[in-house]
Amino acid sequence: MAGNKCPRDNHKLDEGEFHEVPVMHCPECEGVLIKQLSLMKLLTEMAKELSQDISFESEIEPIEDKGANVSCPGCYSVMENYGYMGSNDVMIDSCGQCSVLWIDSNELAAMCFINERATKRFEQRRETSKELSNRLDNYVLQDALRGAYMRGLRLGYGMGFIF
Ligand SMILES: [Zn+2]
Ligand SMILES: [Zn+2]
Repeated sequence: MAGNKCPRDNHKLDEGEFHEVPVMHCPECEGVLIKQLSLMKLLTEMAKELSQDISFESEIEPIEDKGANVSCPGCYSVMENYGYMGSNDVMIDSCGQCSVLWIDSNELAAMCFINERATKRFEQRRETSKELSNRLDNYVLQDALRGAYMRGLRLGYGMGFIF
């Protein structure tokens, strides 16, 4: 059946919600499939959680991509692989036909970080020109993501998410 297999490892995807955004989540690799329109809400909600654990005034290392040529779980066509917010730090996969994104687990925290930092930098530019501080390593970032997952992920709601 279309729509319930992880494009990375073929595990069955669980339907659920993450910070009240409907997602399909892979229990094996922790990648998520979300609607394109839900991305901003998810990142905004995650940022509130992540900001308890990390500072957004840091630099991050590019996230290693797990590879392009992901097959869309919905229609099985090859998803478009592109850099999030015009940078090559995070490469994400998108299906225009199904209007969904596949986000690997190591990418979500970085996307949240990049998005929130852009917002914060914009706000800072309007006030003072504050220098950016230390570099945040990926371990710290992933650790913070794990915390955000634990606080925000609810599975098994059977929300009939996408397909
Ligand atoms: Zn998976
Ligand atoms: Zn598709």
